[in-house]
Amino acid sequence: MKLTTSSPAILPTVIVRPGESDRILSGHPWVYQGSILRLTQPADNGDLVQVKDHRQRLLGTGFYNSKSKINVRILDSDRIDVDVNFFETRIREALAIRRRHLPKASSFRVINAESDFLSGLIVDKYEDVLVLQTSSLGMDLRKPIITLALKKIFSPRAILERNEMSSRKFEGLAEVQGVLDGENVSEVTVKMNGLKIAVDMTGCHKTGYYLDQQVNYQHVGELAKGANVLDCFSFLGGFGLHASRAGAVHVHGLDQSEVAVSAANKNALLNKVADRCTFEAANVFDWFKQQTTVGPHEKIVPRYDLIILDPPSFTRNRASIPDALRGYKEIHLRALKLLKRGGTLATFCCSHHISATMFQEVILAASFDANRTLRRTATYTQSPDHPVVPSIPETEYLKGFAFEVAR
Ligand code: SAH
Repeated sequence: MKLTTSSPAILPTVIVRPGESDRILSGHPWVYQGSILRLTQPADNGDLVQVKDHRQRLLGTGFYNSKSKINVRILDSDRIDVDVNFFETRIREALAIRRRHLPKASSFRVINAESDFLSGLIVDKYEDVLVLQTSSLGMDLRKPIITLALKKIFSPRAILERNEMSSRKFEGLAEVQGVLDGENVSEVTVKMNGLKIAVDMTGCHKTGYYLDQQVNYQHVGELAKGANVLDCFSFLGGFGLHASRAGAVHVHGLDQSEVAVSAANKNALLNKVADRCTFEAANVFDWFKQQTTVGPHEKIVPRYDLIILDPPSFTRNRASIPDALRGYKEIHLRALKLLKRGGTLATFCCSHHISATMFQEVILAASFDANRTLRRTATYTQSPDHPVVPSIPETEYLKGFAFEVAR
């Protein structure tokens, strides 16, 4: 495989079946195996190919991989060279969007794959450390030139690779973690909305942290003035710390991971709010059950002014949607029982397979069972460093609402 292509004209050509080109023309970069009619000449996996419709009209240029269900990941609708300059230009374009929409942020997602027309590539910036994930063979093979482009733009202290995603096997790639450039950094203290959050660069969460909630932390935190807050699935304490800083009377965080709980406690100390924050290692489902199960003549006393629910995705595929919805309903029902009248439920769903409409319906079903009427006061989405491209529905996944208990 050549890292640069001197003459795009000689690229192998993938011809797609009649009727399959509309989706590509509308901007979706994936060409599935089943959409392909034939190849004009053999292509190596990871190579750059051009894609044409059955009338020989050019649809784009992208990376080929016969091992993946997605045979081609288109990078551009034109003929292009994929070299250091290509990556430098794309990364600078993406950076300009972040600077425009998150002007104060020093940690953010620099490249969000399809959202930035670089299918298979994620780059996160944690202050002066960059973390890279490559989920396609074409991108993985080009890590050296991507690293060069990133060095030129950011001069980072380190570029780390966090490629332990099991999904890499679908591209024939092994799970790896390591240093691509610079020093081996194990922890970075991220500055976010004026708070400090120590992030483990070797842990098991995404590339280290949930940068997609950056804007929502701030907005939800602002609802917490004078509030008794419950932060469920608290991880490093993102929501809880923002709530505390905004003037919450007390924040109690719950996470089943002991490691996350001790990191959240450490972050509370770092931000001088430890006297108003407690974090507990508990399974949220069990904890809620315990707190909302009462004897025949007892009543649940609602005691929270703000409850935050930000669970992991309960579903990775369509088949598990019904189970996921049951899980969402259960935590909402129990949370609503613990919320005071006038209190707020700030709730998130990060599964692409569950739409905002489905999510709201499940919350309404829970509110009906809890005998509460809700007033919606805010809707949330992913932070702008995870841009949504409507013609690529997979780019939209995070949705959230704030509901006040009206009655
Ligand atoms: N709200 C966090 C992100 C949550 S990620 C933030 O903004 O940073 C999901 C977290 O939920 C993880 O830390 C994981 O350990 C925790 N978790 C997953 N299932 C859980 C369960 N059943 N009970 C408690 N915590 C759980």
